[in-house]
Amino acid sequence: MNRAVFLDRDGVINKIIYHQEIGVLDTPFTPSQFELLPQVGKSIRMINSMGLKAIVVSNQPGIAKKHFDMVTLKAIDQKMHKALSRQNARLDAVYYCLHHPQAEKKELKRRCKCRKPKPGLLTQAAKDFDLNLKKSYLIGDSVTDIQAGKAVGCTTFLIGNHKCDLCRLLSEKKVKPDFIVPNLYQATKIIKKLKGG
Ligand SMILES: [Zn+2]
Repeated sequence: MNRAVFLDRDGVINKIIYHQEIGVLDTPFTPSQFELLPQVGKSIRMINSMGLKAIVVSNQPGIAKKHFDMVTLKAIDQKMHKALSRQNARLDAVYYCLHHPQAEKKELKRRCKCRKPKPGLLTQAAKDFDLNLKKSYLIGDSVTDIQAGKAVGCTTFLIGNHKCDLCRLLSEKKVKPDFIVPNLYQATKIIKKLKGG
């Protein structure tokens, strides 16, 4: 069986964008807003060289909310893959949940099994890649990421700052990440140690 490092996308791989016109921090709405965070190429290259699958698992309700369309999401994907390959890093797969319970687009309005905190994206990837989820890792920047990883027995990493804005929410929800780290690179270094090599 294979092992994976599951990566949330926004805030882990790329910068979160402040959208002034609607006053929210959110995913990039255009390819030009998509920008890799520092050391992401190096981190994913390390994941590749450890023989672990690098798999993105991300809620992307932006199409459901009519912030952008499928063509834009594909273009953003392409930019991500290109930016990473320039740094000799490779994603094995990208899984998105496009649904939202309050979607404006009717066909995406659904209470699905893939929107994190539900683990549907992870279990689908496990089928596709013959993964041992208990020996896999998940790195995310929100409580729902950690909940999804915990639900299937992954070792979980929360990207957060020292003050830990999310700590109160974590304790309210009784969710405990295995590690709290400042960024993807630090998480990857710990995985390398845990894995032994
Ligand atoms: Zn879904």
